[in-house]
Amino acid sequence: MEETADTIEQQARRSAPALNTRELFNSTQVVVVVMLIATILTGVGWHYAVQREADRNSSEFDAIARDAEQAIYHRMDTYGTALDGAAALVRSHEDTSFVEWDQYVASLDLDRSLAGMNGIGYISAVKATETQVFFDTARSRGVDIRAIHPVSNREELLPITYISPLEVNREALGLDLSFEENRHEALKSSRRTGKMTITKPITLVQDSAKGAGFLLVRPVYRPGAPNQTVEQRLAASNGWSYAPIMARMLLADLTPRQGRAFQITVRQAGAKGPAGLIYSSNTREDSQHVSQFSKQTTIAIAGQIWVVEWHSLPEFEQAASSDEPLLVLLGGVLLTLTLGALLFTLWRREAQVRLKVAEATQTLAQRDEERGQMLTDLRKARDESLAAAKAKSVFLANMSHELRTPMNGVLGFADLLMRADLPDNAHRQAEMIVRSGQAMALLLDDILDLSRIEAGKMVIAAQSIDPCEICNHVAQLVLPAAQKKGLTVECVVDKAIPKAIIGDKLRVQQVLLNLAGNAVKFTDRGFVRITLNIEGENLRFEVRDSGIGIEEALLETLFEDFVQADDSNSRLRGGSGLGLAISRKLAKAMGGTLTAASHIGSGSNFTFTIPLVEAATKPSNLSEVGSIGGGPVAGEDRSSIRVILAEDHDVNRMLVEEMAQDVEITLDCASDGQEVVAMIEHAALNDLPYHLVLMDVQMPRMDGLQATKVLREKGYDEKSLPVVALTANAFPEDVQKCLRAGMQAHCAKPLTIERFEELLGQWLTRPDGPSRKAA
Ligand code: ADP
Repeated sequence: MEETADTIEQQARRSAPALNTRELFNSTQVVVVVMLIATILTGVGWHYAVQREADRNSSEFDAIARDAEQAIYHRMDTYGTALDGAAALVRSHEDTSFVEWDQYVASLDLDRSLAGMNGIGYISAVKATETQVFFDTARSRGVDIRAIHPVSNREELLPITYISPLEVNREALGLDLSFEENRHEALKSSRRTGKMTITKPITLVQDSAKGAGFLLVRPVYRPGAPNQTVEQRLAASNGWSYAPIMARMLLADLTPRQGRAFQITVRQAGAKGPAGLIYSSNTREDSQHVSQFSKQTTIAIAGQIWVVEWHSLPEFEQAASSDEPLLVLLGGVLLTLTLGALLFTLWRREAQVRLKVAEATQTLAQRDEERGQMLTDLRKARDESLAAAKAKSVFLANMSHELRTPMNGVLGFADLLMRADLPDNAHRQAEMIVRSGQAMALLLDDILDLSRIEAGKMVIAAQSIDPCEICNHVAQLVLPAAQKKGLTVECVVDKAIPKAIIGDKLRVQQVLLNLAGNAVKFTDRGFVRITLNIEGENLRFEVRDSGIGIEEALLETLFEDFVQADDSNSRLRGGSGLGLAISRKLAKAMGGTLTAASHIGSGSNFTFTIPLVEAATKPSNLSEVGSIGGGPVAGEDRSSIRVILAEDHDVNRMLVEEMAQDVEITLDCASDGQEVVAMIEHAALNDLPYHLVLMDVQMPRMDGLQATKVLREKGYDEKSLPVVALTANAFPEDVQKCLRAGMQAHCAKPLTIERFEELLGQWLTRPDGPSRKAA
């Protein structure tokens, strides 16, 4: 079912409150305004068409009336011409006989050519005293006039002398026209002016119907007599040619359309009532008709003013009326309705589009809201996960610190115990404690590394390193274990390898050590070979062994966390299954790769690559951290070697004291940073300076970093007083912090007697010996 525009609009309003209602209202307004304008235009067009038709019809009616008017003038002119002819006849010779007159009139054929003219006569001006002469003369010219009537006592009599045709006008012969005012006036006026003159409406004596009529008179002057002025004309006056005219004959059938298209009424101007009426073509039917077109005009006819009126009759009106205005009206209405329908459709379409837009907008808004909510949730989740990661890091750092501290005691004392003179059984047990502790320490390192990598916290340093030296160093580190198993350890380095490249020494060393350590671990006879060469734009480390090999199908899985190739074998040889996983992740983090190739029984080959970027500077000595090595402490009398330990933990302090005792050096202890600084100052003042500081980092009052800075500020430089961090803070950033604070090396707990001796060997065998620079 089709929705109505109303419903659509309501829906649009309901479903989209944000929809611009003013715009909708405007749309409705526009439709209404356009319809209104179209209606007005239709009205105007219709009115114009009606007006145009009325004007056209009015013009046409005027033309008809003008034709009728012209016909009146024309008829009067014809009458005038006939009278002129009669006047000319009399003037041509004074003795014109009635027969001649009658012949002239007969030649005019009045009935056919001069409708309404009842005859043409001649009026003489006769003095009352000369009436007999008049009678005689008339008789001599063929007219027997016995009396002038009606009898009057006027001095001048104006009798009709000739009149033709005589039969119908006989009564008029001898009629003195001065007997009646109208006739008399017309004659006098005509004589004075010299012009054709007509009487006001009169009743002609000849008209048995007694309708309106008039006389048309024309003055005749004596031939040769001047007639320019009124006096001359009065003096020269001889008589008048004249014609009695019946108005109904003159004014009937002026044009063929008279009586059908219009009716005509002629009145004497100024005369009121029936007396003034000259002619009316009005029939009874006509008088009941209300004319649509009328015209009135005044015309001057031979000295009289007539008022002529025309009124339209149904025939004209029907012919005049056309369908044009109706067509215009219908066309306009049709156009208006079409336009309205069109606009309505458009408006409805617009409303539908608006509805859809509103719905789409709402959907978008909803989606935006959902997206916003999703983003908020994601941010929250991210924040939570960041917080969790941070908490994890903090936890890991704390755990690392807290585990290493007691482990330092366990491992260190067990190590010392092994050096004591113990029964075999007890020695073995102590050895088991040490090995278990070392395994735990390694595991701890691996788990911490893995967690840090996964948390994205692993920072890869970009420092200048010597890859050959790393290879040699790793070979040295695994050599003792290899020798125990009767394995050879080779290190083959390509001569083209640069002495300084950009890399992270600790991490490269860690990966390589893991590979070399595994090689030694899983090889029972033969060799372990570390090779270093260049492959394209990479540095390529290869660790090959002649060991037990790995099943090919398992090769890739070995790089997953906690995966080992052969559980029983691995259990036998130890390990957590984390080494390769961590190594590959580290290789990747350094922009390199770690892959393996192996066959059961034919050894394994691990390839580790990193990008080869040559460094501009030589590797720094400070990066020796964590690889403290060297010979035993120099000198016979070790008691003169003065080492000071800053350590707040009693057990750890006791351990280092035991170790110092074991290697026979002098060790003083301080329990925080402030104390160690004070003791060093005191010793220097007493000329008994310390040669080495073993500095814990986390201590109350003043930590190891701060204490080192203070010492360096006071002028104790690295040569006169090396400071080595001895701490459970074992992360690379911890190492960096120590170096930045002015320490020379970092030794992570747990500390073994072996490492203690290495440390002393490295930092107490300098050729120049300890000296204090500061004043
Ligand atoms: P683990 O601490 O167990 O050595 P790794 O991730 O380093 O952990 O090694 C995973 C396993 O891969 C080892 O348990 C061993 O089974 C196998 N493996 C690693 N290196 C070698 C090798 N050179 N020869 C034979 N097997 C090896």
